Amino acid sequence: ENLISVQNLIKTYITGTTEVHALNDVSLTIDKGEFLAIMGASGSGKSTFMNILGCLDNPTTGTYLMEGIDVLGRNRDELAELRNQKLGFVFQSFNILPRTSALENVELPLLYNSKIAVKDYGDRAMNALKSVGLGDRVNAMPNELSGGQQQRVAIARALVNDPVIIMADEPTGNLDSRTSYEIMQIFQALNDKGITVVMVTHEPDIAQFAKTNVVFKDGKIIFNDTVKDRKIAT
Ligand code: ADP
Ligand code: ADP
Repeated sequence: ENLISVQNLIKTYITGTTEVHALNDVSLTIDKGEFLAIMGASGSGKSTFMNILGCLDNPTTGTYLMEGIDVLGRNRDELAELRNQKLGFVFQSFNILPRTSALENVELPLLYNSKIAVKDYGDRAMNALKSVGLGDRVNAMPNELSGGQQQRVAIARALVNDPVIIMADEPTGNLDSRTSYEIMQIFQALNDKGITVVMVTHEPDIAQFAKTNVVFKDGKIIFNDTVKDRKIAT
């Protein structure tokens, strides 16, 4: 079942007299239940592509359908709602608030979701933290948590609105190998439950945990294939 379809995306930046084609005719479909790893050298267009997929930026030209909805035709408020309710974001540097407990960090996206009653915030955030194995650290402050645990708080925050897709930009970039595998274990478990995962990584070893690898070069997709001998994080 097709979840996302982007076709003929072009993104051109003009600085002075120079034009940069950050994306140069990119088309990709992402099925529901996919676990996609995006790779490519620095400057190949990965961030630009993720920003468009995450509805943070528009292409210069091209089309974007999500669950059949024309994303590029939506206004700002509709996009904010779509981002809040359908997408969960995870970053390399965790981006959690320092003077705020794990539970409160995870509750934050609920403040922007009018579909969830305030009385349910605590339970939802608690369940999200349990699902990443942090049920016993809900009141911890970020500086009391390891890097891997902080990233798990960030994953719980991404999950709290029951997203269709998790978008992760180098989620293991600041973690050692063992902790990286623990994080991949969580993404694989979420993917097994039906959540679509789109992840950028520089590390081939991490990309192997995905179902499909896509490689960008000079604003184009030069490789798109199912991972042979996909690894399962244990
Ligand atoms: P990656 O994430 O793979 O490192 P980017 O998508 O960040 O690649 O960048 C792709 C190309 O577009 C690069 O040449 C980059 O310098 C250029 N680029 C990205 N964002 C901008 C911008 N806001 N203004 C001008 N050029 C940009
Ligand atoms: P990443 O490390 O994820 O590849 P980059 O360092 O390429 O990210 O880019 C970080 C941010 O800076 C992005 O939002 C990108 O759009 C912007 N950017 C990248 N290249 C340029 C550029 N040449 N001019 C202006 N902004 C840029």
